Amino acid sequence: MRHDGFETLAIHAGQQADPATGAVVPPIYQVSTYKQDGVGGLRGKELGAAARWIEGYEYSRTDNPTRGALEECLAALEGGARCLAFASGMAAADALIRAVCRPGDHALIPHDAYGGTFRLFDKVLAGSGLSYLPVPMSDAGAVRDALAARPARLVWVETPTNPLLSIADIAALHHLAADAGALLVVDNTFASPYLQQPLALGADAVVHSTTKYIGGHSDVVGGAVVVADPELAERLYFLRNAVGSAPGPFDAWLTLRGAKTLAVRMDRHCANAARIADMLTAHPAVAAVYYPGLASHPGHEVAVKQMRGFGGMVSFRLRAGAAEALAVCGRTRLFTLGESLGGVESLIEHPARMTHASTAGSPLEVPADLIRLSVGIESCDDLIEDLRMALG
Ligand SMILES: *Cc1c(COP(=O)(O)O)cnc(C)c1O
Repeated sequence: MRHDGFETLAIHAGQQADPATGAVVPPIYQVSTYKQDGVGGLRGKELGAAARWIEGYEYSRTDNPTRGALEECLAALEGGARCLAFASGMAAADALIRAVCRPGDHALIPHDAYGGTFRLFDKVLAGSGLSYLPVPMSDAGAVRDALAARPARLVWVETPTNPLLSIADIAALHHLAADAGALLVVDNTFASPYLQQPLALGADAVVHSTTKYIGGHSDVVGGAVVVADPELAERLYFLRNAVGSAPGPFDAWLTLRGAKTLAVRMDRHCANAARIADMLTAHPAVAAVYYPGLASHPGHEVAVKQMRGFGGMVSFRLRAGAAEALAVCGRTRLFTLGESLGGVESLIEHPARMTHASTAGSPLEVPADLIRLSVGIESCDDLIEDLRMALG
């Protein structure tokens, strides 16, 4: 039997017409509690697949039909057994780490991890007895050595990384982690499930900041974990309910609405970013361009093997140095100076002073002449003219 394609799943998985009214879009169930038909007589079974994981609805910290629709859709898009949605990407990461690790455990994290992930390991989880070692995940030999030197419970991977777009070989890391008895987690925020599906490459769990490409419109903060193992999903479900880190119904609805157009948006993000990476490569003011679609990128071959496209993020360094990098960030007309990424509108930022300021003085510090672009889906000619003007 044929399986539905990605675009079909994005629009239909978890999104059957509302059984009560026929509404073709899952309604925003903006509600905290649910009427019981006699004590313990929970309704909700008639919602079918949207209620697959539960007996019925009781309280929205535990379960909510709009959130359930989002979770079923994201589980389908990542090819996982189950998805749990969270109030932010960081809440998703925190839940997954706490569901897996105990005090005394050890984790490997990328040496160029997302700053918030680094802060979570360094400033929060280290205090509860979880140690970590930053490792270059694009170097499988370094990961093998680190696992041989000290057993790890968790190997945390991002690919492509933020802001230098380095690429880790997920299948190779899967073999190393599995041999060492460690769980392999991939933060798939930069690629999105349309460009890369880590579970199919052997990862045990995928984490998303759905704030970025999945939501896609810079109008909602959210996170998700997708897992292959239903037992791990059950632990995450328990923890989320116990802690209360679930997203509200409207946020879940906005995220699901964004997910419907993920494929067409990503195609355009990729096409625009590739043209901009080429323009920057040829520009005399630019010293280096980081984009996995460039044949000169050290991770290009691995990216070709495990990604369907190379994404919408492009970073570059300026010959004139840090002060000029700050000035360029202030000179664009269409690229908005701001943090975050993955929305339809183009953004520009200075990682060393903005998104990655917390890594100053640490091994994760980023170059001060670096500029990061989140290339949006505007007319590409306009974006290119805007950058040319800003670069002078
Ligand atoms: C933004 C981001 C996060 C954190 O997600 P929030 O939704 O902001 O909590 C985690 N990982 C990566 C790669 C990100 O870009």
